[in-house]
Amino acid sequence: MTKGIKLNVENISLVLREKERNSTLLDNVSLEICHGRVRALLGPSGSGKSTLLYTLNRLREISEGKIFLDNTETRMLNVLELRRRVGLVMQKALFFAGTVSDNILYGPRIQGKELPDPDHYLELVGLSSDFADRDPNTLSGGQQQRVSIARALANNPEVLLLDEPTSALDAQASEHLENVVAKLCRERQLTVVWVTHDLQQARRIAQDVTLLYHGKVLEQGEAADFFRQPSTEEGKAYLEGRLGGVD
Ligand code: ADP
Ligand code: MG
Repeated sequence: MTKGIKLNVENISLVLREKERNSTLLDNVSLEICHGRVRALLGPSGSGKSTLLYTLNRLREISEGKIFLDNTETRMLNVLELRRRVGLVMQKALFFAGTVSDNILYGPRIQGKELPDPDHYLELVGLSSDFADRDPNTLSGGQQQRVSIARALANNPEVLLLDEPTSALDAQASEHLENVVAKLCRERQLTVVWVTHDLQQARRIAQDVTLLYHGKVLEQGEAADFFRQPSTEEGKAYLEGRLGGVD
């Protein structure tokens, strides 16, 4: 079994200075994502969940603070190497030109590795091998989400970042994916950050939670404690559906 890796986010901020209008998207955020565990990233729309996720594989660069993969600061790593190790599934999948299979094999191919069997990854996400030769752009939203997850897994990441990965899936397909990820955490010590709007899903999948609001951490800790008794009024309001978005 692989050891698994830890991601440490230390006091990061992301400030946009465009058009001389300072806008703080992330404000002094710290969190720790431990190996083999799922951290649910919660918060109303516009609170900075996607932005935070993108900083973790340097799709967006931070203005302040540090992010460590085990003991190495992520800015010291080659960005392609970082993105192979820290896989991202965006909410809306973007595909490369080619078939589903080409997309799944894209990562292993650029690494010059022995190519895995794309059908294995399709099966893992609950799609039949018939999908391998399809153009991903012709698939339904839910099927695209699953191909996007299969592609991320084919890179054999140590950390998996999931941005509302089941928003286009029905309940059965969502639970299938939840089980696949839980199994990878158990068996391969995969480290996961999972953005979700679905509190029932967060209860099922996460051991740890971080609640973001206006780019700040409102509260975080063990999921069981948070769901039993949030420690802030805003946390309580969020659980009761009373904390509005900021857009
Ligand atoms: P969430 O994923 O929690 O819904 P986002 O991370 O997408 O939130 O966005 C957080 C805030 O940052 C929003 O108010 C959004 O409008 C703003 N934002 C994100 N990217 C940019 C950008 N490039 N320029 C200006 N504002 C941005
Ligand atoms: Mg988002």
